[in-house]
Amino acid sequence: MENQTSPPATQPLRVAVLGSTGSIGTQTLDVIAAHPDRFSAVALAAARNATLLAEQAARFKPLLVCLGEGRVGGTGIEDALSGPEGLIEIATHPDVDLVVVATTGAAGWEPTLAAISAGKQVALANKEALVMAGSVIAVEARRRGIPLRPVDSEHSAIWQCIQGEGVGDSLLAAPKGVRKLILTASGGPFRNTPREQMEKVTPGQALAHPTWNMGAKITIDSATLMNKGLEVIEAHWLFDMPYEKLEVVVHPQSIVHSMIEFEDGSTKAQLGVPDMRVPIQYALGYPDHLPYADLPQMDWTQAFTLEFEPPDLDRFPCLGLAWEAGRKGGTYPAVLSAADEEAVRAFLDEKIDFYGIPRLVERALGAHEPITEPDLQTIREIDRDTRARVREWTRTQGSALIR
Ligand code: MG
Repeated sequence: MENQTSPPATQPLRVAVLGSTGSIGTQTLDVIAAHPDRFSAVALAAARNATLLAEQAARFKPLLVCLGEGRVGGTGIEDALSGPEGLIEIATHPDVDLVVVATTGAAGWEPTLAAISAGKQVALANKEALVMAGSVIAVEARRRGIPLRPVDSEHSAIWQCIQGEGVGDSLLAAPKGVRKLILTASGGPFRNTPREQMEKVTPGQALAHPTWNMGAKITIDSATLMNKGLEVIEAHWLFDMPYEKLEVVVHPQSIVHSMIEFEDGSTKAQLGVPDMRVPIQYALGYPDHLPYADLPQMDWTQAFTLEFEPPDLDRFPCLGLAWEAGRKGGTYPAVLSAADEEAVRAFLDEKIDFYGIPRLVERALGAHEPITEPDLQTIREIDRDTRARVREWTRTQGSALIR
């Protein structure tokens, strides 16, 4: 099934990159550029950065370019597609084999579904697609026999660990004999920071991540551990695992990218330098581990220590909120995701303090009237309503949310 939509082995895989100017997008293009025999970038889409998109278009000469909302005037990409329709056109185009969904936020999940419905392979870096609409997207991917290829380092690690464990080459069924999936978390920049100090954290401090170099939204989510909570929900959908079999452990070195524990206690882990080009390349080149000259390497000749510790849910309430939303299911994860995106924006704009983020998310979850089996239209409405609600709270009570 995996090969049905792939071109003959001699042809490079034709890749569309949605979110090509972001952190994952630019690293995806690095990987593509490193393997011109294996991959070609046939479509590029960005939300706003017209200048970088034009540079990328000049370099990779894609068939299709899409600029979501910026102005193309004077950049040389005047014939670019635009808006959400442009993303859908790229995601379903006949000359595209694999779609990398690296847009952030809710903009990613509709093209993801469109690509699956068009029979494309999908490498998924967007978290919200599975968090908000996992009940639709993961179910549709299974129904069509199209395994989603995770790009996130944790899910990539689990994907690599389940190879040869009785699930064939796909993620279409839960791996057998597994007791737990254990997601590792770096702990972010405030792993050892006392709560009193965390209350006063500035956006600049929260944006300085110790081990990973990522975009602003995900970096703040890593500082609150919301990112790990969203990954738990994604793992639930990607690997068809109940929440009781999912666990989070803080591992500050970010060398062990995640683990699976089998019923006999045997545990497999995937290790490597924390560099997103590794999981990106695996998602594109699966099942091959391709060489990449520019990647840093582990030095196993040197002594070093790997540490593991439980997450502190008191200092990082976002992780607990995500577990709760995931377990409750239905529309709760969509509310979690939408509220978090708005709360993070308010924090970056200095309208609320660091703990204003979990306060807003908790309040949004508490105010929500759940729907058990939402369709896409319902999820869109929940997304819109939650954002409006959180923005309103921030506008009218921003100072109250600071304490
Ligand atoms: Mg991750």
